[in-house]
Amino acid sequence: AHTLRLVLGDQLDPLHPWFEAVDAGVVYTLMEVRQETDYVLHHAQKILAIFAAMRDFARHLREGGHRVRYVALDDSSNRHDIPANLVALAAHYGVRHIEWQNPDEWRLDQQLQNWAAQDHGYPAKAVDSAHFLTGRHDMAAIFKGRKQWLMEHFYRQQRRRLGLLMTPDGQPEGGQWNFDADNRKPWRGTPPEPPDARPVHDHSALWAVLQRSGVASMGEAQADQVRWPVNRAEALALLDAFITHALPHFGDFEDAISERAPRLFHSLLSFALNVKMLRPLEVVQRAEAAYRAGAAPLAAVEGFIRQIIGWREYVRGIYWAHMPGYDTRNALQHERPLPAWFWSGDTKMRCLQQAIGQSLRTAHAHHIQRLMVIGNFALLAGLDPQALHRWYLGVYIDAFEWVELPNTLGMSQWADGGLIATKPYVSSAAYLQRMGDSCSSCAYRAKEKTGPSACPFNALYWDFFARHEGRLRGNPRLALVYRQLDRLPGADVQALREQAQTHLNRLETL
Ligand code: FAD
Repeated sequence: AHTLRLVLGDQLDPLHPWFEAVDAGVVYTLMEVRQETDYVLHHAQKILAIFAAMRDFARHLREGGHRVRYVALDDSSNRHDIPANLVALAAHYGVRHIEWQNPDEWRLDQQLQNWAAQDHGYPAKAVDSAHFLTGRHDMAAIFKGRKQWLMEHFYRQQRRRLGLLMTPDGQPEGGQWNFDADNRKPWRGTPPEPPDARPVHDHSALWAVLQRSGVASMGEAQADQVRWPVNRAEALALLDAFITHALPHFGDFEDAISERAPRLFHSLLSFALNVKMLRPLEVVQRAEAAYRAGAAPLAAVEGFIRQIIGWREYVRGIYWAHMPGYDTRNALQHERPLPAWFWSGDTKMRCLQQAIGQSLRTAHAHHIQRLMVIGNFALLAGLDPQALHRWYLGVYIDAFEWVELPNTLGMSQWADGGLIATKPYVSSAAYLQRMGDSCSSCAYRAKEKTGPSACPFNALYWDFFARHEGRLRGNPRLALVYRQLDRLPGADVQALREQAQTHLNRLETL
């Protein structure tokens, strides 16, 4: 063989140009390494789903006539370190070149680049993963010289450039770029949540290998019924089901939370997208086609498309423009450790118990659970954003640092000092009561601000703004909050702050 090509676990795109022609001189390698299972404590389903999909991808490549060397976790020759495996395989096959697709995580990118820079006798080349709609470094150019990097600015550019939801004369469809204001209904049981269209896989054998190897994990493995797609065909079926059954209601209930409907009308496509089984453009084109065919309303389709061509590409751009260093930002200097119930769901605050419990059971929570329940609480309570980042990076099926980090540190925790979010995403119990349905069966009372049964979100909310007044009062988007705070009698503010302190002192047992 003349060339060894590395395929990473989040590069499972059968449509990549690499695979267009079969060349007997090229050996593809996929490897299950401790380096990747161990850099953070992952959800069991995340490890299972990625390894299972890698195995399926190797099978698919072999069926297509390609040469593949699959390095399994328990292979005796596995060095559990990507460069070390590459060197061994390169020698074994006698190749002259080593190639990989640009990794999306800074950590891996650095590791491979540093290794390539050493003199080990194998010229290395990195190619594009051919997945994203924008280049790694486009963002820095788009926002050159701007203090705030607003998503909306980027999003409109992408809509124009890609010609999505545009009228023939170059205007946004429906006369508006963004229909977010229409996408804020609570869900009270109708329309029903569509059936779960995901496949069911028995990964028990793989789970046994992980356990024998001593790979640590969190959450429930449910190894005999893992519900994440293992290949593009399954991901396409999931996309079909979403377009038909969920997209029409995606917009209306995009911000809703319900104990009775963990997915609501979300797509559950993030895993398939992030491991590159699906291409972002094909996904949004399907959504646009549903709108053009009259099968889904504009507000739903626009909202969905915005998440993918807007937010998803935007956070990636932020990540590459600000790494290294972005991961250590902590603008509000929050340092409190995460309470143990982040790994058990065992808290009396019902909304958190539900959102964290669901995350541990399924490796998924939808955006509002991540942002307005878990993230909201973490920010109000002043939890350490780096520890929180490691939790999010581990627990979610779709968590890869390029997308998880800006969402957690930037959007959710305001730890970047407002680069992404124009104001901290926090709320008191009133919002959770309006958008969700956990408050009615919670041990705490949403309407009470102080006292033993008061919902902790209330006092923590006011304490957050009082505590960070120096940093936040000048923000025009928070003028209303500070006017409200100013109108509260001093004794009330005092009582709220003392109550907040009481909550914080017993965080573990809240
Ligand atoms: P849908 O609601 O159906 O949305 C469709 C697609 O849009 C998603 O599959 C995803 O690809 C994209 N998308 C939506 N919102 C975002 C966003 N804010 N940023 C980037 N892409 C987005 N998403 C991840 O893919 N990986 C993560 O590790 C991740 N961590 C997050 C951490 C926090 C604190 C928050 C607030 C959000 C995070 N998100 C992350 C974004 C979002 O919550 C998930 O993409 C979404 O819940 C995945 O479920 P879905 O496929 O059903 O999404």
